[in-house]
Amino acid sequence: MNTMLATAQAAIRQAAKDLGYDDATIEAFLKPEHEHVFEVTAGGNTYPAFRIQHNSKLGPYKGGIRFHPNVTQDEAQALATLMSIKTAAVNLPLGGGKGGVAVDPRKLTPEECEEISRGYARYLAPYIGSDKDIPAPDVNTNGQIIDWMLDEYEKTGGKKDPGAFTGKSMDCGGSEGREAATGRGGVIVLLEYLKAQKLTGKPFTVALQGFGNVGYFFAKVLREECPEAKLIAIANSKHTWVNQAGINVTKTNTGSDYPRPEELTDLQEAEELDASAIISTQADVLVLAALEGAVTSANVASVQAQTVLELANGPIDQDAEPSLHEKNVAILPDVVANAGGVIVSYLEWKQNLAGEHWEEDLVNTRLAEQIVPAAHAMFKRAQEKSMPYKQAAFELALQRLLG
Ligand code: NAD
Repeated sequence: MNTMLATAQAAIRQAAKDLGYDDATIEAFLKPEHEHVFEVTAGGNTYPAFRIQHNSKLGPYKGGIRFHPNVTQDEAQALATLMSIKTAAVNLPLGGGKGGVAVDPRKLTPEECEEISRGYARYLAPYIGSDKDIPAPDVNTNGQIIDWMLDEYEKTGGKKDPGAFTGKSMDCGGSEGREAATGRGGVIVLLEYLKAQKLTGKPFTVALQGFGNVGYFFAKVLREECPEAKLIAIANSKHTWVNQAGINVTKTNTGSDYPRPEELTDLQEAEELDASAIISTQADVLVLAALEGAVTSANVASVQAQTVLELANGPIDQDAEPSLHEKNVAILPDVVANAGGVIVSYLEWKQNLAGEHWEEDLVNTRLAEQIVPAAHAMFKRAQEKSMPYKQAAFELALQRLLG
């Protein structure tokens, strides 16, 4: 069993036990409802493929499809299980699923990529759909791949069902606001936390690890929504850049819409430090928007921030968490902090079912209406039971799933 699955199951067993559920109920919940293990072919080669449908008590399964050489059945099961917790933690009428193909997409021609996408959707066609299981993009998959999958799924089933996939291109029924949704959701959760701590209006500094889709939009929306926030450091996989005067991520010397840190005007004079330096940056808030395992027992002692926002999935190792709690560092957990993406996927599905296309402002309003109460419920339970936010979020989710 891989570490991610063992870690996810251990956290669920602990939270469910604390809530008083018996072993048989907990073990039954951990077992996925359906595990589709099959193969797809492209260019004469065969690749292992998976779709794990973990739990559908609250609604159709929801979760991404990744193309990556390290995809395994165990990894897909871990991620599907965490999707069940995430959708329940933010009170969506959806379950948890995840899938993938064990392939290195950099070694595929565009034609082979299309062949794999279509083969994947064709095999799964009887088991997915807007009322059964609604896949979305994940690592190395995108709107184009989802458009191919939807087309193949609809051809196989002989009927239109655009709500069967989310993360589609606009032309195929995608939603406004999806691109920025995870970063925006992270900003909302952080600002609600500061409000709950009675810190609204006070200036604070932010260090940001990861400057991809999630990190960039987090920084952009934070600047728009919170003048008191000052972003002072950014890291990608190569370097950390610091500017104590503040970094405006929309000011570039190239005019690029999605700039790399090197293109930001405010970083032209900044020294390039090691990528790892971001973790020990002196800032009030550390935002982890890169990969899993960014804070480990090896570097946790160097964390200076009082608040850590988990925008990546599992960026703090289980072993490292207790030392942050001892230092009274607040961890705003991934299952709520990065749920903006799945919430806007849910809104895309709702638009497809109703045959509507909403303006971006309406999508953003509905995103806030979904994530704010979920954050408040987590803060309240954590305070009442003197427990970390992550445990509070898991407990709230498990009560909905097991109750
Ligand atoms: P991305 O590939 O667009 O960006 C990842 C960024 O992390 C890049 O800037 C990369 O340089 C940086 N990075 C990689 N290794 C690093 C390291 N060792 N140190 C510092 N930076 C490093 O990915 P993304 O879509 O922004 O997703 C980021 C994380 O958020 C992933 O864990 C993803 O699973 C999670 N997530 C994404 C979404 C979404 O909607 N995109 C939703 C929920 C969770």
